[in-house]
Amino acid sequence: MIDHRKLGRELELFHSDPLAGAGLPIWLPAGAAARHAVEEYIREEERRAGYQHVYSPPVAKRQLYELSGHLPHFAEDMFPPMRLSADDEFALRPALCPHHALVYRSRGRSYRDLPLRIAELGGMYRAERSGVLGGLSRVRSIWLNDGHIFCPLDRAGEEVAAVLEMIRRAHAALGVRPAGFRLSLHGAGDKYVDNPPMWERTEDVLRGVLKDLGVSYVEAPGEAAFYGPKIDVQVVDVAGREMTLSTVQLDFHQAARFELSYVDRDGARRRPVIVHRSVVGSMERLFAYLIEVHEGAFPAWYAPVQLEVLPVGDVAVERFSRSAIAAGLRAEVSREGTLAARIRDAARRKVPFVAVVGPREATASAVNLRIRDTSDQLLPEPEALAALLARARP
Ligand SMILES: [Zn+2]
Repeated sequence: MIDHRKLGRELELFHSDPLAGAGLPIWLPAGAAARHAVEEYIREEERRAGYQHVYSPPVAKRQLYELSGHLPHFAEDMFPPMRLSADDEFALRPALCPHHALVYRSRGRSYRDLPLRIAELGGMYRAERSGVLGGLSRVRSIWLNDGHIFCPLDRAGEEVAAVLEMIRRAHAALGVRPAGFRLSLHGAGDKYVDNPPMWERTEDVLRGVLKDLGVSYVEAPGEAAFYGPKIDVQVVDVAGREMTLSTVQLDFHQAARFELSYVDRDGARRRPVIVHRSVVGSMERLFAYLIEVHEGAFPAWYAPVQLEVLPVGDVAVERFSRSAIAAGLRAEVSREGTLAARIRDAARRKVPFVAVVGPREATASAVNLRIRDTSDQLLPEPEALAALLARARP
């Protein structure tokens, strides 16, 4: 049975230390390098799609979460508030939306500003019970690839469709196995904001997007967020189970709570809706999934070490490894031990490219290049580097 906790230990991707606390993993250099590559990819995709990135703190005054509705509807998933002084209480945030609503509100908005797309890869916290915590799949400290689109309700459908397309591309690049769509609707109970006409309208918008896409989907009553319906892009894990990484949610509630508005063409003040979306979900859940699906052998573009340079004898390889690093590859030189042992070690650590540089190759300015799962090729240095770079892009 493939288990990301075991692989995470063997490949030194992340570490859980009882002194730091359960569900509060530490990303080790190899895991951090892979995560960084994925974060860069997502940020670039978002930039191209017209998002603006912000930073906001993972802690805020408790009043912020009273206003957002998180404390009234979501308190049992939050850490208890922290008291700094009698009238100063803070909460670890359970979501980034309230801060992004404040970004929207930081100045007056007109219809020309919309859709306003705000993105952040930010930290947040959930008070998971210690019994359910394990590795990266269920954690208390979460780094979420988050984004919020503020727009009129009649523009929300096209924004949701654009997000679904971005998710499709990201899944293909990351090697995620898609398993279809789930339309999560509200259900009975006081967990949900009480506004039947808005539930109906927003659920219709999402249904319309899925219909226009021509994809099949299942409807799941009682799986919506408390503030609105959502489309969950389901993926299938190594055990064949369905799970959610990526989601698009249509929220008619928080904009009203925060009294967000914009001045429309005709001068009237109108209320936007908020599309909450995550292209790949949290870094923790994503990597728990990716480690298992790829059995630790990530696609080359986000492999922690992409190129292992193995000199034979005391041949000089510094120029080659320096040019590989300068070209953007994560490369390292390994000299200790026999060549066979070093090749085995690189394979064990799932390094996608191995370059053996012997005396013959050094004089010929060529490297004997092993690419994971392919046979050896003897290539001149510039060609070897170009071949690696071409395969190291998403
Ligand atoms: Zn949100």
